[in-house]
Amino acid sequence: MTYHILKYTDSSLPDFLISEVKKRGEFAEKKALNADELKQAYEETDILLVSGGTIITKDTYDKFKNVKMIADFGVGYDGIDVNEAIKRNIFISHTPNVLNDDVANTAVALLMNTTRQMIEAQKFIERKDWENGAVMPLGVSFTGLKVGIAGLGRIGKEIAARLEAFKCDIAYFAHGKKDVSYKFFASLSDMASWCDALIIAMPSTKETFHCVNEEILQKLGPNGFLVNIARGALVDTDALIKALDNKIIAGAGLDVFEQEPKVPQELFNRPNVVLTPHIGSATTYTRMEMAKLVLANIDAFIAGKNLITKVPGTRDS
Ligand code: NAP
Repeated sequence: MTYHILKYTDSSLPDFLISEVKKRGEFAEKKALNADELKQAYEETDILLVSGGTIITKDTYDKFKNVKMIADFGVGYDGIDVNEAIKRNIFISHTPNVLNDDVANTAVALLMNTTRQMIEAQKFIERKDWENGAVMPLGVSFTGLKVGIAGLGRIGKEIAARLEAFKCDIAYFAHGKKDVSYKFFASLSDMASWCDALIIAMPSTKETFHCVNEEILQKLGPNGFLVNIARGALVDTDALIKALDNKIIAGAGLDVFEQEPKVPQELFNRPNVVLTPHIGSATTYTRMEMAKLVLANIDAFIAGKNLITKVPGTRDS
């Protein structure tokens, strides 16, 4: 059987992945199709290649009548209606674990860059403030910094492991207590009151939507920093901008945004805010590992074997 594989995401995917996928069936890219070709793709597509954030609704499944597998290049699958896929017996794979290290590194880098004002420090030099005798404001030390990690899953645990080496005092918020020595908070609000830095590492779900709101930012307080490497939807952007305007919190490091790739202008040019364009997993090594895992899942599907990394709750063979 010849499988029809459609790249359904507009995000760029590694050349290696695309060239390997082409060896496994008829390949097409949604954005390159004209109306007639798209109509044909609706009929014949077996595998949809998507990336974190791609929206797959009931309507998408209705159009792609024969789709059997969704291969997600990413760990987050918040854009995919998973329950509908389960009802329709559709496989979904994603790429957990292989990206933990680089996403955790990004979280720590954002926290370090915000608390030590690295971006502002470079601007300070470029503006010749240093040369002209100005003094950079003092930064905040990692030593003894109380860091609350919201979501102690695959990535959250790696963030915590790194922060241990920096001598931070670590706590976490999750559904339940884990077998770790860090402090556990059953309430995000209580953890926000306790910590100097709040790092968000939970998935985007109905429950976590805007979990960082005005109240949480108030609790984090004027010496508190927010880092978000999870999804933009977890932070109420308007509340965050107000909190930064009114010095309700000390600063923020953000890799993800509610309307990305659009980032509100109000977040720009603040010495206490560091912004990165959703590059948590964006290293050559990790993107290659993610590509290999996508391919291994597609190969397992084609061979009728259990998927290597299926999305929880979906079928595996
Ligand atoms: P994971 O292993 O599933 O861990 C998620 C953690 O969040 C778990 O500790 C879970 O708690 C906790 N959690 C989930 N919903 C919660 C809720 N309503 N209340 C309290 N705790 C909750 O996920 P992961 O692999 O670490 O990935 C986390 C997220 O990072 C992904 O979903 C994705 O959106 C994002 N991400 C971003 C990038 C990037 O480039 N910036 C890259 C990769 C991933 P329990 O264990 O107690 O259930």
